[in-house]
Amino acid sequence: MKLVAFNNLSNSSVRPIHFRVGALIDDDNVADLTPSILPLGLTPIELLRCYDLSTDFTTPASEAVFSGNLPVLSKNDVKLEAPIPRPGKIICIGLNYRNHAIESGMEIPKSPIIFSKFVTSVAAPNEPIGIPTGSEQTDYEAELAVVIGRRGKNIPVAEAMKHVFGYTNFNDISARDFQFTDGQWQRGKSCDTFAPFGEFVATKDEIVDPHNLRIQFRLNGKTMQDSTTAELIFRIPELIEFLSRSITLEPGDIIATGTPPGVGFARKPPVFLQDGDLCEVEIEGLGVLSNPVKQNV
Ligand code: MG
Repeated sequence: MKLVAFNNLSNSSVRPIHFRVGALIDDDNVADLTPSILPLGLTPIELLRCYDLSTDFTTPASEAVFSGNLPVLSKNDVKLEAPIPRPGKIICIGLNYRNHAIESGMEIPKSPIIFSKFVTSVAAPNEPIGIPTGSEQTDYEAELAVVIGRRGKNIPVAEAMKHVFGYTNFNDISARDFQFTDGQWQRGKSCDTFAPFGEFVATKDEIVDPHNLRIQFRLNGKTMQDSTTAELIFRIPELIEFLSRSITLEPGDIIATGTPPGVGFARKPPVFLQDGDLCEVEIEGLGVLSNPVKQNV
C-alpha cells in the first residue's frame, strides 16, 4: 500500500492540524481511508501515534482498499501533506555512505552519527523549500527514510525489521553556512521546510529489499546524485538496534538513513539551491518527491 496524507485546503497557507489518510491506488487517484480506519473518533494523528502501524493499521486499511468501496478522489483535487505530517521524531544518520564521507572530508564513521530535525521542518510534497534569511549555502541530500511502525526499546538486529512500517523519499535539506559555523548541526538542519518527504510511504511489503534500491537526486532535471542503498555503511536493522538502545522508537518516527555522494557543497565548484530551482528525490519503488525552491518563505 502507498499511504498518503492529504487535505482539501489547497490554498491554505496554514498547515492543518487534522488531515485525511489515503492510499494511492494508481498514479492519479487517492482512496480515502479516513472513515474506515478511525475507530471511536480518534484523529489520524492519534491513530498513527498509538497504533502498531504494521498490523493494526495496514491489514484493515489494505482490506478497505481492496474492497473497492472507498471514496476515490483525483490526486489533482487534494493537497498532499507529508505522509506522516507530524512525526514524533525525525532522526537523521550522518555520513552513512562511504563516498559521501570521503567527499565531505570526514572519517568513515565507526558507529552511526545521529542528529535530528525539529518537527516544524517537515515539508509536504510539492511545497516550496525555503532558503532561510542569512543562508547562501542551502544544499540537498537525497535519502531513504524508514518509518517506524511498532514501538520498541532495546530492539535486537534480528527483530528490527518487525518495527519497520515502510519507506519514503526524504530530502535532508541543510544550510551549510549555519551547519558549519554554529558549532553543531541543529539549526542548519532544522529550518522550516528542511525535511520534505513523500509523496507516499510504501508499506514494507512493497519493497523486497530496502538495501538494493537505486537512489537519485535531480536539480532542475540534472542528475546530481545516483547511487544505491546497497552502499549504506550501517543498514536499517543495525540503525534500529543502535538507536533503540537509548531511545524509544514509536510509530510514525522517521529515520533518514543518510545520503550518497554528489551533494552540492562538495562539488567543484559548489552548487547551492537558488530561488526557482526544482528538487527531485527518486528512489526505486518510492516514486518521486518534488519540491520547488523559494527564497525567504
Ligand atoms: Mg543527511
